[in-house]
Amino acid sequence: SFAEVPHAQPIAVFQLTADFRVDPHPSKVNLGVGAFRTEDGLPWVLPVVAKTEAQLARELEESTLDHEYLPVIGHPEFTRLATQLSLGEASPGLQSGRAAGVQVIGGTGALRIGAEFLRRWWNPELGGKCPVYFSEPTWGNHLSTFRDAGFTDLRKYRYWDEACRRLALTELLEDLESAPEKSVVLLHACAHNPTGTDPTGPQWLQILDVVKRRNLFPFFDSAYQGFASGKLDEDAAAIRLFESHGLELLCAQSFSKNFGLYNERVGNLVIVARDSAALACIKSQIVLLVRAMWSNPPSHGARIVATVLGDPVLRKEWIGCVRTMAERVKLMRQQLYEKLRQLGTPGTWEHIVKQIGMFSYTGLNRAQVDFLIREKHVYLMASGRINMCALNSHNLNYVAESIHDAVTT
Ligand code: PMP
Repeated sequence: SFAEVPHAQPIAVFQLTADFRVDPHPSKVNLGVGAFRTEDGLPWVLPVVAKTEAQLARELEESTLDHEYLPVIGHPEFTRLATQLSLGEASPGLQSGRAAGVQVIGGTGALRIGAEFLRRWWNPELGGKCPVYFSEPTWGNHLSTFRDAGFTDLRKYRYWDEACRRLALTELLEDLESAPEKSVVLLHACAHNPTGTDPTGPQWLQILDVVKRRNLFPFFDSAYQGFASGKLDEDAAAIRLFESHGLELLCAQSFSKNFGLYNERVGNLVIVARDSAALACIKSQIVLLVRAMWSNPPSHGARIVATVLGDPVLRKEWIGCVRTMAERVKLMRQQLYEKLRQLGTPGTWEHIVKQIGMFSYTGLNRAQVDFLIREKHVYLMASGRINMCALNSHNLNYVAESIHDAVTT
């Protein structure tokens, strides 16, 4: 029987939302969610996505589209256009046929399939014992996907300077420098979750230098392309830099945030291999992994993304939507910062406006977070991470005043 099965720990971010839902307080605010919210606090179906879905529905009705299985590695136009969005049109890997994408189940599926592949084929003599480095802090699911793929030596590289609320570059470089050769290193392509702090261009060059010298394997996570700077190319600069130096790499690309297609699970695992023959072998192995895991990917989200990226008019409209989301986040940063200054809240708050992407790492400590949840009904992650677009003109003053009280009580 299953009498021995212990109850697992709830997943923090989902537990937070469940607690928020049952809280009857009229001023409650949920800053924990990992999705875009409009000024009215609602989810946003991008107009260009809704329009494309209507078109796809017509095509299904007219039988010019169907529900046949996709190839195991996915919708060919989707993977081609998605990979191009990540690596850029001038990508040497794409031009020489040694880069390609595999359609997977969201960014999470890309991380998991990538990890499954690396455990079997990167450093095969070590297998699951190959060290994997994650930024400290990082997105919680990074460790889980690699652990469940069989990696046992999960390590941290220092990333965050708590005192100065900025990137701990020296420590980061030190930790990668002392990593055993051929370790895997997970890098956030942009809009680092949860700190909202990315390396600058010159800092990326220093990271690239260590990765190359130590022969580390770079695995990028790109879940927020367009959210950091509002510009798609700029947000992919780190991946392109590594590619331009001839490195082999993987990149877990998610369309959950920048297309607002969260529950459609649209992801692409970008592969840059040494040459086209190696790429063909890698893809053939990934086919086997996918076949045994979910067999074939779902088509709906991939069709939407492929249609939009492949049509210049729709693509332009989509770029406008991404900019709208990025700008709303920036506006909320500015307003929260100004309000805290106006209140004279002790401490420095410039990091709120300096950080980028959907999240801010407020620097609020555990006691202050507990106070906000318990006394103010303002829900946020224990790490102090808040989703900037969960703020709006209706709740911003209340949140700022609550933070002020948390800091001064
Ligand atoms: N990486 C990071 C850093 C994320 O924040 C997320 C989404 N929260 C993902 C990957 C995975 O996204 P998806 O929902 O597409 O699996």
